[in-house]
Amino acid sequence: MIKRAYGPEYGFQTRSVHTGNDVDAETGAIRRPITMANSYALPYDPSDMNWSSAGANLYTRNGGANQGYLQEKLASLEGGEDCIVLASGVAALSGLFFALLEQGDHVIFSSGTYIAAYRLLNELLNHKFGVETTLVDTSDPANVEAAIRPNTKLIHIETPGNPTLTISDISAIAEIAHRHGALLSVDNTFASPDNQRPVELGADFAIESLTKYVNGHGDAMGGAIIGKKEHLDLIRAQSQVNLGGTISPFNAWLIMRGSVTLPLRMKQHNENAMQVARWLQSRPEISFVAYPGLESHPGHDVAARQMHPGFGGVLSFGLKADHDTHNRFVSHLKVITSAVSLGHDESLIVFLGEKDERQYLYPEAFHNGFFRFSVGLEDVEDIIGDLQQALEKTFGRMKK
Ligand SMILES: *Cc1c(COP(=O)(O)O)cnc(C)c1O
Repeated sequence: MIKRAYGPEYGFQTRSVHTGNDVDAETGAIRRPITMANSYALPYDPSDMNWSSAGANLYTRNGGANQGYLQEKLASLEGGEDCIVLASGVAALSGLFFALLEQGDHVIFSSGTYIAAYRLLNELLNHKFGVETTLVDTSDPANVEAAIRPNTKLIHIETPGNPTLTISDISAIAEIAHRHGALLSVDNTFASPDNQRPVELGADFAIESLTKYVNGHGDAMGGAIIGKKEHLDLIRAQSQVNLGGTISPFNAWLIMRGSVTLPLRMKQHNENAMQVARWLQSRPEISFVAYPGLESHPGHDVAARQMHPGFGGVLSFGLKADHDTHNRFVSHLKVITSAVSLGHDESLIVFLGEKDERQYLYPEAFHNGFFRFSVGLEDVEDIIGDLQQALEKTFGRMKK
């Protein structure tokens, strides 16, 4: 029995379960196996093979079986033509940037991005390789338009942005990019393809850190670039093979398994984060809550247009308190773990102090130190109960 290709006529949940899986031809197992091999058998005369090819099975840095299955699924879930899966989200970002950009090209990027995107564009590519970069607040598309130069090749945005949850309008910025002959890439990690699909909204590339929601279990790293085949063939040939950020077959398999429950998990992340955001907003000890699902969020209307069914599981908030009080609050938590990363099954919190080098780029409310909080899949009563008991231990019981 050969399994069907699962086209877009099938729902997102059906494709999350089935796409990329098939009956194993050798054993009849209804799960494709993990192929832990570095090399594949060569043809009778291998001398005219292209050793840099990312097409045929050759060597696992050029592409492997499990990587291919995951690529098939993610292209489908993101609504893209093609996908490249790499060892981490940062391998996806660097793979995209190094393949696309040349000395003298100009890039516009969001002032609120993952730190490695900031470093790649603002420190490595411009200082070492002569790529011009302009950092703008992309929450207003007019800022993007104003920064366009004749040599603008790429606009890179992150929405919701890490760690400020800033929202940028994907279709408005795609229109600006294309009118000026530039490409748009969108880091979609905070939303996941369940809540937002940048390629369907007009972006040329969606980037995912699979380490986060797509895998969802905090036990494997991976990254993906989704886009048109013509662009991805170039990235595959130049970056995957020559920069070498290859994903291991085992990690690709783990992420494939985790991704089966992406829609179910996101439903719960969305609901829990919404409830936690509302609860935090009602507390007198809290200085601010940034969550795009709240009507008070400046990007709420744009987020409501481009994100469905929810706003993701990450929020940021601060306490009306000094630096050490933030740390004391965390030390009282029992359910929520103090650790970096996000999109895991368990709730994770990280205190980002006042000394962040990018502080000047953040909204005012973030200047006194704040928490990035990835709301997990625990019972929401237990998450809120944990926050409440930690607040009470930190501040004493306060009248509401
Ligand atoms: C974590 C993260 C990345 C980097 O992904 P890794 O898998 O850690 O390399 C990129 N973008 C965003 C928005 C992230 O949160």
